[in-house]
Amino acid sequence: MTFQAAVLTLYPEMFPGPLGVSLAGRALGEGKWSLDAVQIRDFANDKHRTVDDTPAGGGAGMVLKVDVLARAIDHAREMMAQTPPSGLLPDTSPLHGEDLVDPPHAMGRGTADEVGGGGVGGGGAGTIPVIALTPRGKPLTQARVRELAAGPGVILVCGRFEGFDERIFEGRQVEEVSVGDIVLSGGECAALMLLDACIRLLPGVMGAASSGHEESFENGLLEYPHYTRPQEWEGRTIPQVLRSGDHAKIAEWRQRQSEEDTRLRRPDLWERHVGARVQSASGAR
Ligand code: SAM
Repeated sequence: MTFQAAVLTLYPEMFPGPLGVSLAGRALGEGKWSLDAVQIRDFANDKHRTVDDTPAGGGAGMVLKVDVLARAIDHAREMMAQTPPSGLLPDTSPLHGEDLVDPPHAMGRGTADEVGGGGVGGGGAGTIPVIALTPRGKPLTQARVRELAAGPGVILVCGRFEGFDERIFEGRQVEEVSVGDIVLSGGECAALMLLDACIRLLPGVMGAASSGHEESFENGLLEYPHYTRPQEWEGRTIPQVLRSGDHAKIAEWRQRQSEEDTRLRRPDLWERHVGARVQSASGAR
């Protein structure tokens, strides 16, 4: 099954960007995921193709218009629902508008066959979540990323200016996700981040050897430190235990390091981890 991603943006030329190279780029080429970069402006219906307006109540900046956003989201939902199992897509998208710069792997609909087709097997498209990237959204977690990666795909909506007209969230059942307590100039970098995190978890993307299950956040802890040759560098050596060949001892050392690093660096995670441990211990009794 191909993981379908659609990104609604005023800057489709930013996609696939960094996702066109390395693991994600290869996976895109192999059809493990597909990408539609949809120009929001194509859903404005006035002659100036207006996507924003001044904030009600006054104040600085501009707000993305709810009617334009709603049409773009409806289009993306329909487009995904219609994706035939072959992955050969009917050419009805406004993506071929002159605004869309189509980088080599940007999945304008006409190029879906180029990534090996696949589609979504005709099923599950109705359940594709719509996520708007917003600073006030629910912080993105590895657990949410895992859920998304296990699903049929995602529709991401990138804000610009002051952000979205509030009515879009309820009006189109749009979830809000934040990628950190920072303010970006637009949702595109956040969307790239979210997609990157999902794509590396898709079956066959990382390869059998590294399933990602030992990594930071997967068990509520930060990952233990890594070392590689040379054994000594500027007077600093690799911990002896890692050279012992004793796998049980190594696992124990790694677990301890993992816990210690989490406690010191991320007290918030540590508290949650300890709380979960206490809860599961009392549940087991
Ligand atoms: N006025 C907004 C506020 O104060 O919350 C900030 C708008 S920001 C300049 C423009 C767009 O960037 C947002 O609509 C959102 O799509 C995106 N963005 C900015 N920071 C983000 C973050 N931490 N996580 C996800 N998206 C973000």
